[in-house]
Amino acid sequence: MRMLRALSARLAALADACLPASCIVCGGDEPSGLCAACEDDLPGSRAARCPRCAMRTTPLAGREAGDPAECAACVATPPSFARTIVLADYAAPLDRVVHALKFGRDASLARPLGRRLARRADAALGALPATARETLVVTAVPLAGERLAERGFNQSLEIARAFARSRSLPLAHALLVRLRPSAPASTLHAHERRRALHEAFGAPLRVDGRTIVVVDDVMTTGATLESAAGTLLRAGAASVINCAVARTPDR
Ligand SMILES: [Zn+2]
Ligand SMILES: [Zn+2]
Repeated sequence: MRMLRALSARLAALADACLPASCIVCGGDEPSGLCAACEDDLPGSRAARCPRCAMRTTPLAGREAGDPAECAACVATPPSFARTIVLADYAAPLDRVVHALKFGRDASLARPLGRRLARRADAALGALPATARETLVVTAVPLAGERLAERGFNQSLEIARAFARSRSLPLAHALLVRLRPSAPASTLHAHERRRALHEAFGAPLRVDGRTIVVVDDVMTTGATLESAAGTLLRAGAASVINCAVARTPDR
């Protein structure tokens, strides 16, 4: 088993080295797959956000930079997750990249997204107490069985894999399982979505005392990640941190 893992890590490194090194947004030469200029230009990339749910916030006058306040919604109803880190808004050109990853079956797009997301999460993860950092484990929001069969891969898991590998963190892909399929998010209103997602996940393993990074591609209402975090806390997790590539802006 250990040999197999070592071999697969070697193969992955080899595949990394063989991949064309161009930016997924501008197409320019870029070994990381997403150049810093393109990342900075993504809508909402540098926006002030609620540290808890990553919704865009207006910074309060007089408040020191680096001391971001939680949004009113998180203060009124604290979510199960402790933090949410996102790269940018779910808008062009990131929406096109995520769409291509999801439906174009091009798993290689996950690598630059996972790496950049990990870099974005460095400060938050680095600020954790040492005891929490030692228990960190990365997982992904699972796809429903039939969608996994349709697409052949779970885009969030591929992003999580790149995230974990770039920071030498353990990846555990079986921490969450879908208990039942949910209707496509776009066809449901927010409150219907919340109901559909209630008890959407199960946790087959205990994760006592662990700090868990849950990776997702797009955070829309936050209901999926709320459901996932609630499930993980009930399975013993000490804390849950969401890392999503894109956040749908508030409408
Ligand atoms: Zn670029
Ligand atoms: Zn919030």
